[in-house]
Amino acid sequence: MGTLHKVRAFVRVKPTAQFAQDVIKFGPDNKSIDIYIKKDAKKGVVNNKQTDWSFKLDGVLHNTSQELMYETVAKKLVSEALIGYNGTIMCYGQTGAGKTYTMTGATAEYRHRGIIPRAVQQVFKAIARAVDSFITVRISYLEIYNETLCDLLSTMTGSGASDVQMAIVDCPQGVYVKGLSIHPVSDEEDALNLLFEGETNRVIAEHTLNKNSSRSHCIFTIYIESRFRVLSDVRCINSKINLIDLAGSERLSKTGSEGRVLKEAAYINKSLSFLEQIIIALADPKREHIPFRQSKLTHVLKDSLGGKCNTVLVANICGEALHVEETLSSLRFATRMKWITTEPVINVTYDSEGTVKALEKEISLLKQELAMHDSLVNRSLVTYDPLTDVQLAEIKSQIHKYLQGTIDEIEIMNFRQVQEVFRQFKLIVRQQEDEVETRLRSKYVLIDKNDFATIAAAQKVMAGAWALPKTLFRMIFFLIQEGDLPVSQAQITCI
Ligand code: ADP
Ligand code: MG
Repeated sequence: MGTLHKVRAFVRVKPTAQFAQDVIKFGPDNKSIDIYIKKDAKKGVVNNKQTDWSFKLDGVLHNTSQELMYETVAKKLVSEALIGYNGTIMCYGQTGAGKTYTMTGATAEYRHRGIIPRAVQQVFKAIARAVDSFITVRISYLEIYNETLCDLLSTMTGSGASDVQMAIVDCPQGVYVKGLSIHPVSDEEDALNLLFEGETNRVIAEHTLNKNSSRSHCIFTIYIESRFRVLSDVRCINSKINLIDLAGSERLSKTGSEGRVLKEAAYINKSLSFLEQIIIALADPKREHIPFRQSKLTHVLKDSLGGKCNTVLVANICGEALHVEETLSSLRFATRMKWITTEPVINVTYDSEGTVKALEKEISLLKQELAMHDSLVNRSLVTYDPLTDVQLAEIKSQIHKYLQGTIDEIEIMNFRQVQEVFRQFKLIVRQQEDEVETRLRSKYVLIDKNDFATIAAAQKVMAGAWALPKTLFRMIFFLIQEGDLPVSQAQITCI
C-alpha cells in the first residue's frame, strides 16, 4: 500500500504468414518495438513526415502461447485482487487483431482459452487453498453498444430482467451499474457457464438486432469478497477484476461506412478517444478534473483506471504491413497508458455485525473451555453467566456475616463472584464514611481545609472571642489603677 505503480502495457502480435519484418522490429530486450515505414511504401506519406518510431513497453508478446501470455499479463494482477486490490485488464486494438482471442480465447481447444477462463481458474484455485477466510465470488457481464448498457447475463435471472433500465451510479464505494445482474458462482464451472451464456447472448443479439460485436465494449467482472477474522474483528476485503474486450479501434476514415454503420463507428471512436483523453488526463498530475462521465465506457471504468487499482493494457496488433497505421496508433495508445501512475489500495471494511457474532462465538467457546477446566480439577458445576438477583443477595449476606465475624472466610467461586464481593465491600466502606461524617457534623462545625474564605471568617470569630478577655483585663487593670479594687499584681496576671 502507498507505493506508486505504473500502468503496465504489453503488445501482442497476432501470428501471420505475412509478417512485415522490414516494418516491425522487436528489440532484444523483448520490450521494445520499432516501426519503420518506407517513404514509398504508402502513398500520402510525405518526405518530411516521421517514418521511424520506437516504443518501449513492459513486454512484447510475439509467438506467445496463451499460457505464457496469461503468466506475463494477468497472473500477478489476479493474485493481488485476491488480497483486495482492484484490477483491470483491457485489450485494445483493431478488429481482427486478437483482442477476443486474448481475453476469452478460442473455445475449440482448452489450451487456447484466454484470460477470463484462466483468471476464473486462478481465483477458485486460491479459494480452495484458503483456510482461514471465507471467500465468495460473483460475476457480471456488461456490454456497451452505441452508448447503451446491455446486461449479457440478464437471461440468467429468469425474470425478464433484460428490460431493466440500467444506469451508471457513482457512490462513495465506487462506481456500479444499477440494474446489472451480478451472479454468485460457487465454482469454476459455474463461472464459465456464465461466460458462455454471455457470449451466446452476444451472438444472438448480433443476429437478431443486426449488431456488430466488434463494435461493442465487453466487460466481464469477477467480484471477490473475502471475510476473515483478525482477533475478534471480522475483516471484509472486496475487490473486483474487470476484464475488458474493447471495441475495434480502427479509425473512421478507413471503414468508409455510411448510415447506421457510420453512426456506430462514430460512437466507438468517440468512446475510445474519450478513453484516450482520460488516460492523458490521468497521466497529468496537475489535472484535477478527469471527465470520466463523458462516455459510458469511461464512466464505468472510473474506479478501474489508474487511481487505486492495478491496470494492465494489452495492445493487440496485426503483423502485416497493410495494418501499420492501426498498429502505430495502438502502440501510441499503449505508450500513453504507461504514463499513468496508480497507487493501488486494499478495499477493506470491518463488519460490526460479523464482529459481534464472532465475539459471541468466542464467549461460548471460552465458557466451554472453563467448564472443561472445572471438570479437570473436579470442581462442581460452576456457571459463568451474569449473577442472578438471588446470587447477589447471597453474596451481600455473606459479606455482612463476614464483617460481623459470624463466618471466617468467603469462599471464592468464580471471577464474577470475586468482583461482586469487592464491589460490595466498596459500597460498605462508602456507607461507613458517610455515616462517620454525618456523626461528626452533628457534633462539630467541620470546615474544609481548602475553603480559605470560611477559614478566614472563622478565625475572625475566634479573634473576637480572644478580644473579650483582653477588654475585660483592661477594665480590671483600669479599676486597679484607680485603686478601686484591692488586687495584687500576681492576681492580675492570672486573669
Ligand atoms: P478481435 O477480437 O481483436 O477482433 P479476434 O480475437 O477475434 O480479434 O481474432 C481474430 C482471429 O484471429 C480469430 O480467429 C482468432 O482465433 C485468431 N487469433 C487472434 N490472435 C491469435 C493468436 N495470438 N494466436 C492464434 N490465433 C489468433
Ligand atoms: Mg473481438
